[in-house]
Parts: sequence; C-alpha cells; structure tokens
Amino acid sequence: MAFNVLVVDDSSVMRAMIIKTLRMCEVDIGEIHQAGNGKEGLGTLQENWIDLVIVDINMPIMSGLEMIGQMEADPLTEKIKIIIISTEGNNPRVEGLKEKGVRFIHKPFTPETIRDVIFDVMETSNEQQT
Ligand SMILES: [Mg+2]
Repeated sequence: MAFNVLVVDDSSVMRAMIIKTLRMCEVDIGEIHQAGNGKEGLGTLQENWIDLVIVDINMPIMSGLEMIGQMEADPLTEKIKIIIISTEGNNPRVEGLKEKGVRFIHKPFTPETIRDVIFDVMETSNEQQT
C-alpha cells in the first residue's frame, strides 16, 4: 500500500532534502505534499488523504508542536503517523510525544536515518492492518 506523505518545514531546502530522501527509499510512497508551517500543514490535511506527516518543530505562524496538538484533538487526524525532524530533542513535550509513539529524528540527519525510520513506521502500520 502506497503511503501519502506530508512534509512540513519552514526551510524549503530542508523540505527538498527530505523529499529527495523519500524518493530514494525503496518504499512505496504515493503522493508527497509539502507545507511551510503548521497552519498550512493542517490545511493540507483537511484536503488530502495523508498517511504520514514529517514535521519540523520551529516554524513561524504555527509550530510543529502546535500542529501535532491540533492533529491529536481531531478524530480525523489523530491516527496519522508522525515523525518529528528537529534540533529540539530535549524538549519535554517531545519526550511525551515519543512515549506515545511519535518518532523523532535529530537534525542534522543522514538519509539512512530517515530511510530506517520510514521503513519502521510503514512496517508497524502494515502489521496493524493484517
Ligand atoms: Mg524550522
């Protein structure tokens, strides 16, 4: 089953890097959407079927943590898989999210790290379906 992915980061360079890595992974990626902040990201979630959100924390207008909070509060988005890619590994809120199954990748990252985490997330989700 192909995964539709939304990449949310205020840096277009970072988005391009993440998307390039996604395309290089030998996993079945469907549509790839992108947004420059949490508010835009939530808008994209309203209009598209997304299976996985890869999200930065520090962004203008709406941060990644605020976006995740709103996703958790909405039954339509609460089950979407989330990977945070950020420099903010020690944030207590991030620690709490990790305990709930949100994955975390530290910036700077290698393509292999992203690939491994994506594989892992997709595998877990396939197991849940069977
Ligand atoms: Mg940022």
